[in-house]
Amino acid sequence: SSQTTLPPRTPSITTAAGPSTSSWTNSNEQESDYVSDPVQGNTYYKGQFLGKGGFARVYMMTDIANGTQYACKIIPKNRMQKVHMQKIAREIMIHKELNHVNVVQMHHYFEDNLNAYMLLEACPRKSLMHVLKYRGKVTEPEARYYMKQMVTGVAYIHSQKVVHRDLKPGNMFLSEHMIVKIGDFGLATRPDGQRRRVTICGTPNYIAPEVLYKQAYSYEADVWALGCILYALLVGQPPFETATLKETYARICSNQYKEVDDSIATRSGQDLVRWLLQPTPELRPSLERVKEHAYLTKEYVPASLPHTCCYQMPPAHI
Ligand code: ADP
Repeated sequence: SSQTTLPPRTPSITTAAGPSTSSWTNSNEQESDYVSDPVQGNTYYKGQFLGKGGFARVYMMTDIANGTQYACKIIPKNRMQKVHMQKIAREIMIHKELNHVNVVQMHHYFEDNLNAYMLLEACPRKSLMHVLKYRGKVTEPEARYYMKQMVTGVAYIHSQKVVHRDLKPGNMFLSEHMIVKIGDFGLATRPDGQRRRVTICGTPNYIAPEVLYKQAYSYEADVWALGCILYALLVGQPPFETATLKETYARICSNQYKEVDDSIATRSGQDLVRWLLQPTPELRPSLERVKEHAYLTKEYVPASLPHTCCYQMPPAHI
């Protein structure tokens, strides 16, 4: 039948039926190279494995009707507790409303008896984590190029009243044409006006001091994380990285980091890092203001980058 039922507006992921003793096995998920959306009827071919996250495995997936390719996050349902399903439903609800060139687009989601499927814009150049792994650090024009797009993307996310809460190089994905795409909304939230206390989340090196102090936190923690990422791009390691978690947290709380010097960045770059890494969250700028900073508006920002920059120095003209 040619059903044109739209997917429900609110994801209602159900835990898998069957005895709770059923154990999840790889063969379960690998069952078929083809996956069908039971509601829309579209069939997808499951291709190359791209990576794994907490519960999810990510594969290339092709819509066999038109050849469109996606990265598909596949979340098995039968070993998952209800609370985890609720978290994933939340991620989907937040992510599917976002639509911006610097945000990984979530095109569609559906589920069958075994799994939930999130069809995402494919980012074949991996992420800034991989760039840092191969390159150590990047040149200043590259750092400005990446930073401008990250700031634009997160400013948009904030304009939609969403805090990402897990900004780090590994969540800054890169498209075929080296456009930054912010992804992984697994920890994202819509802060209510009340600024409730919230549980610690985020990644140690990029965590803001107010998060560690267990104060209510909000948009400003994302601004802090962007300061850490810019620093990592320029210096080659995040500002508060040490051998131990305890020491890292102590440094974050005392705002103790080695300043970026003239050999690494222009004065305006140094100024931007300091502006973002202010201990008092209220003093940090909104990303609308960061967009206007001289480092991103007055200094040279390349219009594009060749993909060779993922693993080697840019050509001389950049
Ligand atoms: P995590 O659980 O670590 O937060 P994800 O579940 O979002 O990460 O993704 C797991 C891995 O799958 C990533 O590290 C990456 O290698 C790959 N991946 C995720 N999303 C995409 C995408 N849109 N395009 C290409 N690869 C992706």
